[in-house]
Amino acid sequence: MDYLQSGAALRVLDSGNLITWVFLDTKNIHFDGVVIMINWQCPFCGHNSTLNNNNMTASSFNFNDNNKFDDQLRFSVNAIVCPNQQCREVVLNARFGRAVMVSGYYQIGELFDSWALRPSSLALVFPDFVPEPIRQDYEEACKIKSLSPKASATLSRRCLQGIIRDYWGIKKTTLFEEINDLKARIDLDTWSAIDAVRKIGNIGAHMEKDINVVLDVEPEEAQLLIGLIEMLIKDWYIARNTRQLHLAQIVQAAKNKKP
Ligand SMILES: [Zn+2]
Repeated sequence: MDYLQSGAALRVLDSGNLITWVFLDTKNIHFDGVVIMINWQCPFCGHNSTLNNNNMTASSFNFNDNNKFDDQLRFSVNAIVCPNQQCREVVLNARFGRAVMVSGYYQIGELFDSWALRPSSLALVFPDFVPEPIRQDYEEACKIKSLSPKASATLSRRCLQGIIRDYWGIKKTTLFEEINDLKARIDLDTWSAIDAVRKIGNIGAHMEKDINVVLDVEPEEAQLLIGLIEMLIKDWYIARNTRQLHLAQIVQAAKNKKP
């Protein structure tokens, strides 16, 4: 443990470690040597929590060993245990870059590489009642997003088609027709979101073609598709399951009331 906690703020002694945590959720982090708070969302259970020294541990080392950068390099790993008592999953990350001395402490300056080790991408872990081929395409799309936005978008489109076919029972020749068919069946806000993503850049221009056609896609476009799929899985599969469980509880409670 190489940081101290003081009040609501974490005084970071080895800020290189803490940046590793920061990249999980950069929205609520203020980093300039002192981290104000670490709001964190568990990739396993989706629970939001504030991390402190009871649920995160880090370790780092410097090395040179005549490396090709001719510089002091630094490797850092950290472990986070989800504070949600129902989850307590373990999240592991690693970072590698140039070692720099800041305020008397080493941290990673120029970042060469970073890895989400467990889970192996920042994909959400969806429950088993979401069909496996859909979950697999989604997870692959997340994993490959930075390396190949094209491949990611292709998987996302197949995933989107899988969702529309499985959840709504719509089966047409092309995804374009399937999305059009969907319009009459879902609320306008959701359909507009799907339609908006369809219209963005190359994905939109070619969506009416075969889903396996590989297109030039920017990482931001690949991320938009991933975000859309996450939203649809939550709004459709997860919401339906929650509703079913709730209704079953009501039925059971009513049965228990009978004399
Ligand atoms: Zn969790």
